[in-house]
Amino acid sequence: MGNRLLAALPAPDFELLKPELEPITLDQDAVLSRAGDAIDYVVFPHGGAITLMIDMADGNTVATAAIGREGAVGMLSVLGPSPSATTAVVRAAGTASRVPASRFHAVFSQSPAMRRQVQNHIKAMLMQFQLGLACNALHPVEARMARWLLQLRDCVEHDELPLTQQTLSQMLGVRRTTVTLLMRNLRARGAIKADRRGLIEIDRVRLASAACECHRVMRREVEEIFAGDADRVRAPDLLGRVPGKKAGDAG
Ligand SMILES: [Zn+2]
Repeated sequence: MGNRLLAALPAPDFELLKPELEPITLDQDAVLSRAGDAIDYVVFPHGGAITLMIDMADGNTVATAAIGREGAVGMLSVLGPSPSATTAVVRAAGTASRVPASRFHAVFSQSPAMRRQVQNHIKAMLMQFQLGLACNALHPVEARMARWLLQLRDCVEHDELPLTQQTLSQMLGVRRTTVTLLMRNLRARGAIKADRRGLIEIDRVRLASAACECHRVMRREVEEIFAGDADRVRAPDLLGRVPGKKAGDAG
C-alpha cells in the first residue's frame, strides 16, 4: 500500500519532498491535529483511516470526512496560514509519511505536478463535504451510518473495522443508544456480521444496499478525479520528460 497522491508524482517532483519525508505510524485513536492548532505537518497515509471531526462548544462532535491513502491531512494549509478547522483522529491504525508544512508549501510553489495533486485532493474533499452536508440533511441516520462504515472500509481495504459504538456515536453526532439500535437493525439485515470488543465486521454488499447513494457517488467521483489525473500524466514533468514515452517516439 502506498499513498495515491505521492504515487502520482513524477520522480523528480517526489525527490523535492523526499529529504524531509519521515515515516510515522498512525496509532489507533491518535489525534494528529486539533481544531485551532497551527498545521505543522502534512501527513500522507499509506494505510489506515483518519476522520476529520468538528467539535461543537457543547461537546458534541461530528465527522466531516474520512481520509485514507487517497488523501492527506493538512494539505489544505496551502490555501493560507490559517489554523486547522477540524480535529484529525486516527480511526484505524496504519502507517504514513509526513513532511513539515513549510517544506510542503515550498514544493507546492515549485512543482506543477504537486499542485495537480493538491487540486485533486481539494476536489475530493469539497465533494465529500458537500455530499456529506446533503446526506446529513436528507438521509436517514441508518443509511448514514452504513455510508460511514463503507467509507472507512474503503480506507482500510478489509471488512473488519476497529470501531467502537462510542466512536460511531462521535462520528455521526448521535447518542450511543441510537448507535446500539442502528447496529441491531444492520445486524438483522446481515449488513453487520459481528460487533465485539471494538471490532465491527461488515458484509460489504449488504451494507451497500443499506446505505444511501452518497457512498457510491463519492467513490465514483474519487475514481474520476484520479482517472482524470492519469490522462494528464503524459504532460512533461519538471525536466521536460513525458512519462510513458520512449526516446524516439514520434509526436
Ligand atoms: Zn446519504
